Amino acid sequence: MKRFRFLTEVQAATIEPALSGKDILVQAKTGTGKTIGFLLPAIEKALRSPVRPKGTPILVLSPTRELAQQISTEAQTLLPQSDLRIITVTGGTRNPSTDLQKFLERDHDIVVATPGRLHDYFTGPRKTEAYEKFHGLQTLVLDEVDRLLDGGFARELDGVISMLPKTKRQNLFFSATISNNIKQVAKKYNDGSEYTFISTLKEDEMNVHQHVHQSYIITPFEKHIPTLLALLHLDSIKHPLPHVTTSTPSLSPGTTGPETLSKVMVFFPTARHVSFAMEVLSSESIKKSLPPLLEIHSRKSQSARTKAAGAFKNAKSAILLSSDVAARGIDFPGVTLVIQVGIPSSAEQYVHRLGRTARAGAKGQGIIILDPQEQPFYTTREMQKTTTISPYISSPSSHEAKELETYIQTYAQHVQNTLETVSANNPTVIGSAYVSFLGYYKGQARMMKWSSERLVEEANRYAKQVMGWTDALPPAISPKAVGMMGLKGVRGLNIMKPPRPEREQSRGDRRQ
Ligand code: GDP
Ligand code: MG
Repeated sequence: MKRFRFLTEVQAATIEPALSGKDILVQAKTGTGKTIGFLLPAIEKALRSPVRPKGTPILVLSPTRELAQQISTEAQTLLPQSDLRIITVTGGTRNPSTDLQKFLERDHDIVVATPGRLHDYFTGPRKTEAYEKFHGLQTLVLDEVDRLLDGGFARELDGVISMLPKTKRQNLFFSATISNNIKQVAKKYNDGSEYTFISTLKEDEMNVHQHVHQSYIITPFEKHIPTLLALLHLDSIKHPLPHVTTSTPSLSPGTTGPETLSKVMVFFPTARHVSFAMEVLSSESIKKSLPPLLEIHSRKSQSARTKAAGAFKNAKSAILLSSDVAARGIDFPGVTLVIQVGIPSSAEQYVHRLGRTARAGAKGQGIIILDPQEQPFYTTREMQKTTTISPYISSPSSHEAKELETYIQTYAQHVQNTLETVSANNPTVIGSAYVSFLGYYKGQARMMKWSSERLVEEANRYAKQVMGWTDALPPAISPKAVGMMGLKGVRGLNIMKPPRPEREQSRGDRRQ
């Protein structure tokens, strides 16, 4: 291997058990080189076989397309000289039947897939040919295993794994977060037997890097976007563009010295929240004060997603507004700051989002912005076990606090002006974000101690105060969406009539 001379801790801890053929379940912090941790032994095993195995010896499953692509690239760069054939099998491509043809017409050594697309192959018209490709399968990798096993992928995963050979197959399951529950679920894919569990986390150690400075800001929803903007602006001041002199230090990705530029990921609860924020932030008066803006989420076409991910990866300075599609696994070099706006869906998700910074030993910072009603999130037992976060502003009378407040107020004015344009020109972006708010916070209602009535009141207030909705009635919502969210008969909703079943949106409420 040309790129690295030494194994990282997790690679060192797993290589022997993996090479000896054990089924392993591995937990190690974000950004510590788990990808090579599973690729290396899997490839070694395939190359060691006396005869080249027929079909595909290595199958890697990933929860997102972007991560699948990244794993393929990592496998390719790992062995540039070898004749290993690697294929990525995911949805969102232009021509699925050509993809299938390419997949079937030759043998590949490594298939990196999302469960959905592989499941399509296994149930489609050429299913027998498709799963026969895996008759000689030696290694099955589940990356982000807890996400793959948390229920959302159950149907596809069951469908795929039940068609794979059981004998001889070795399982390598990896994630930064593995709960006891996941350990139980994982057994199902191992003929009911236990895994060798390997964790590089010390006992009682928190699951985030100690060198990531984390803080929170508690402020009402309506101040979230101005606060976000103030933080983005402050980060860009903190990491100024270097003056071009002969002694300009070179920018090496993954390090955060004074020469590093501001590269920030901002996470929102749903794809629709990202669209709305993008709409506001890309208004002329706001975007001119910030590094270039990018967005990534499931409501974008795959080509737009790929383009945004590529641009952010290569950018020296940029802001990526993101849903949870880019929360896990994605390795963007040099991210200086991760901002989470609103509560993440779980403590695990908090860890993964934060893990987009401070990778491969680099420094990083994390800030979470919460409404006072969202505060119970960081006092949950899971969060307490996970991390310690301190207030962003330690003293309200400090210079820091005053500076932040000044920026917030300036931006609040810009946001106010922008909202008027958004609600006049693009009311659907508000309507969709409103429905997404209902869907997302319905799932968090118990923690926030919100009844359904309260949820609707809060959503209606959010539409007005955060998104600048001006009509007397709240944005309209389809009866089907209301039904699916279990909000039938709840006061305060503006239910659409007649229904438009073919343009249903509610299924996407939780889409990342
Ligand atoms: P994961 O979050 O644990 O899955 O981390 P990744 O596998 O995505 O790796 C994070 C970064 O560390 C990537 O840019 C890797 O190329 C890099 N990396 C992997 N192994 C090594 C290593 O041995 N040394 C160094 N310096 N970097 C490594
Ligand atoms: Mg990873």
